[in-house]
Amino acid sequence: MYEILDGKTLSNQIKDEIANEVRRYTMQGMRAPHLAAILVGNDGASQTYVSSKEKSSHEVGFISSVYKFPENTSEEDLLKTIDFMNNDEEIDGFIVQLPLPKHIDERKVIHAISPEKDVDGFTPINVGKMVLGEDAFVPATPMGICTLLERYNIETEGKHCVVLGRSNIVGTPVANLLSRNNKHANCTVTLCHSRTKNLKEITRQADILVVAIGKPEFVTADMVKEGAVVVDVGIHRIPDETKKSGFHLTGDVKHDEVDRHCSWVTPVPGGVGPLTIVSLLQNTLKSYKKTMKP
Ligand code: NAP
Repeated sequence: MYEILDGKTLSNQIKDEIANEVRRYTMQGMRAPHLAAILVGNDGASQTYVSSKEKSSHEVGFISSVYKFPENTSEEDLLKTIDFMNNDEEIDGFIVQLPLPKHIDERKVIHAISPEKDVDGFTPINVGKMVLGEDAFVPATPMGICTLLERYNIETEGKHCVVLGRSNIVGTPVANLLSRNNKHANCTVTLCHSRTKNLKEITRQADILVVAIGKPEFVTADMVKEGAVVVDVGIHRIPDETKKSGFHLTGDVKHDEVDRHCSWVTPVPGGVGPLTIVSLLQNTLKSYKKTMKP
């Protein structure tokens, strides 16, 4: 029988912890932490992500602001806004919701974000510091995955962790974090991607399988070792006429056949997603504490 790594419940617990801390600061007369977001265009999924970040910010007592721009916004205007946010003393951290429209150079935009306010942990300075094991803002999704494993006391030391996907925002940083020399990591990590040969043979060796591949229900039961811990990062909207919204959500793992072979598994939704948002809040609080020195 498998158990659920319940990201929703855990995220509510961590949000309560953050809210209590924020209350302590504001009761001393300090301003609340402020997380801002830049949203360009009308992509439905991006709008949903930004509004859930906004909602979670309010739940923990943060100030939240969203700067919305039309699809045809120029790169120059966006860079000006980033410059403003970098210098605004009342913004502790901000994110630029990706993807950006094609005419905007994503790399240039990310490089323009001040590392001190880069709560998504995407700038070269934060990525470099993370790899060196220095104090840094760690990207939210990998940080959320590590929090989930740590808070559920999943043993990682000496375990073989297979990470499926090598993106800069999920696969590569989570592989780095789980191979670090600390008691909540110390895994032996194999990082797989689209050129990996004999994928199934490798995934079947995983004690911990982290799947961030971006392909609905890609991981099937024959790819998973009996008793593995499976973390499904994927999130996909599948058209579904039976739902009021017109879609249902699914992950990168075929849960109806995989789950019964696992010891622990993250559901979709309610697994990694809520922890991603919480990690963003934790990074913002960390930035706030650096400048406000409560
Ligand atoms: P991505 O940038 O699309 O990267 C996908 C990775 O999977 C790439 O490294 C790619 O290899 C690899 N890949 C693709 N097809 C493969 C195959 N057939 N065999 C082996 N490897 C293959 O994805 P991402 O941004 O990391 O996102 C992954 C998923 O997580 C998406 O569904 C996304 O929506 C979701 N996500 C969820 C959250 C959350 O909070 N829950 C956060 C971020 C992302 P190559 O490098 O060789 O192309």
